[in-house]
Amino acid sequence: MSQNNEKEQLSWREIWRINRRIFKICVGKRRSFFPIFISARIAEALSPYVTLYCSARFLDELTSARRPEMLVRWVLLILGLTAVMGLVKALLGRLKDWEDTLCHFWQYWIYGEKALDMDFAKADDAESSDQLVQIMQASQFSGRGLPHFLGVLPRLVGAFFKVAGGIALSVSLFTLPVEPWARELPLLKVGLALAVGGILGVLLLTPVLTGKRLKAWIAVTEAGKAGNRFFSFYGYQLYREDKRALDMRMYRQDLYGRKVNADNNSWGMGGVFMKLEQGLFGITGGITEVLSQIMTGMVYLYVCLKAWYGAFGVGSVTQYVGALLSMAGGVSELLSLVAEMKGNAVFLKKVLDYLDIPNEMYQGSLTVEKRNDRQYEVEFRDVSFRYPGSSEYALRHVNMRFQVGEKLAVVGQNGSGKTTFIKLLCRLYDPTEGMILLNGIDIRKYDYREYMSVFSVVFQDFQLLDAPLGENIAAGLTYDEGRAVECLEKAGLREWYLTKADRGLKTRLYQHEDAEEGIQVSGGEEQKLAIARSLYRDAPFLVLDEPTAALDPMSEYEIYTRLNDIVEDKTAIYISHRLSSCRFCDEIAVFHRGQVVEKGSHEGLLARGGKYAELWNAQAQYYA
Ligand code: ADP
Repeated sequence: MSQNNEKEQLSWREIWRINRRIFKICVGKRRSFFPIFISARIAEALSPYVTLYCSARFLDELTSARRPEMLVRWVLLILGLTAVMGLVKALLGRLKDWEDTLCHFWQYWIYGEKALDMDFAKADDAESSDQLVQIMQASQFSGRGLPHFLGVLPRLVGAFFKVAGGIALSVSLFTLPVEPWARELPLLKVGLALAVGGILGVLLLTPVLTGKRLKAWIAVTEAGKAGNRFFSFYGYQLYREDKRALDMRMYRQDLYGRKVNADNNSWGMGGVFMKLEQGLFGITGGITEVLSQIMTGMVYLYVCLKAWYGAFGVGSVTQYVGALLSMAGGVSELLSLVAEMKGNAVFLKKVLDYLDIPNEMYQGSLTVEKRNDRQYEVEFRDVSFRYPGSSEYALRHVNMRFQVGEKLAVVGQNGSGKTTFIKLLCRLYDPTEGMILLNGIDIRKYDYREYMSVFSVVFQDFQLLDAPLGENIAAGLTYDEGRAVECLEKAGLREWYLTKADRGLKTRLYQHEDAEEGIQVSGGEEQKLAIARSLYRDAPFLVLDEPTAALDPMSEYEIYTRLNDIVEDKTAIYISHRLSSCRFCDEIAVFHRGQVVEKGSHEGLLARGGKYAELWNAQAQYYA
């Protein structure tokens, strides 16, 4: 409901401002889109007038002097101009199709760039995700927002030219005099009044009806959104996801999905949209059609009367009727488009609100000194952190300094703050209190990309792409093949690479209907691939968040015993709740409820008999 109020409150000035900004954003993304679309619309709007004018002259000649050379001239002109216009329209049509295809990509990339540009805290936040979901739903299911804007603006210009062309061809209808004796005939005046009345009636009523339709449409959008979510998930996505296939069979989630989908199908028979089509949309559509037929009759009446009373020849009748109807069509299109533009401004405002979400994290500009000796030092100085909107501290007074080349393990129970610690290290969030320093300088003062180049992280929920193996490892389209293979070997995939990757680094990962040649990858293999990708990046700090969670004990053992080879001279930070894997590290930091409660070597911590020893003994029972 608040959306409707919002709509009511948008002034014309705001609507203009919103549309102008959106125009600039779109032009910034693709300069040639509007010139091509607008030219195509203008050509479409004007071409009927060319034939209309020439045919009228031909008919006039045919019904008057009938000079053969003039008749031939008009026929040739009609044929020639029709051919030229057809060619121009076809050419513009091709260019338009191409632009149309491209615009599917660049218009959504506007959101992609914003999401990447946004503070991670904001991107991660439910409010901004919801804003984006609303924008996407409105644009993908009802074309509102950017797609609507991109379509309407060229149509608006086209309609303007249609009106201008119509006026140009119909002015003489009103100025050419009838025979003197007929000038005062009341019938002529009645005819004029009916024609003007008919045109005005259509012009005034059409936008009112369009406005009503738009209002009704907006009112059910909310219901549609929920319906869309259910439909796209339960009606479609649920059955296609490989990862769900086992659960689907085991728990017959398909039956549940079908039921939920049937109960929430706002688009199906009896749904709100169908009711709208049957009711308001059907009725207003019918009224519009009847009115436009009445208007056509009136226009014919007046034009024929003027021809009858000698103002012009029979040929001009078609010209005037055609021009007047087309002009009226153009005006009503203009008015409807303006009304639609007004309605769409609410959705465009949502787009701008999303794009205007401010970044609050301080963006420094210092470059990170590139050191061949990799002498980088990171220090957490009394760092505490609360997630935005949360009252609980996820980290409390963490003090830590990583020695260069050290292997640090971060252990602790679930929810103890390990991942949060890594997120702060990667500057996905800023500490609520305290400071993180790189080589003695607050990390906020560095340029973000520069700072991130020092780290290579395998997050718990890493994602690979269904792209060739080499491109996945290098995270780029070009790569050093030797180094990519070396990283695969270091990550323990030598055997796999030799036996499974039948097309070497060009082997595509994953299999689905669009990439049947791809190979299936198990969870453990995925994890090793993610490790190989992080090694390829070759950053001084290597962070592995639960790097062996999906590995079998043998692979896990293999990774950890070869840790020194893998890590080389990098500073490595492992997060793990499997303590056996931490024995290989120089130092172990034990997290508990957001605090570092112990620090030391495996033996030292065991001897101390504290939290680490408690966790170790608990796990040892299960592994025994
Ligand atoms: P661990 O990695 O040790 O399992 P986390 O660092 O993920 O622990 O979580 C530490 C605490 O922060 C937990 O209480 C968790 O619920 C909370 N937390 C984690 N992510 C978020 C988030 N995005 N928003 C709010 N609280 C979070």
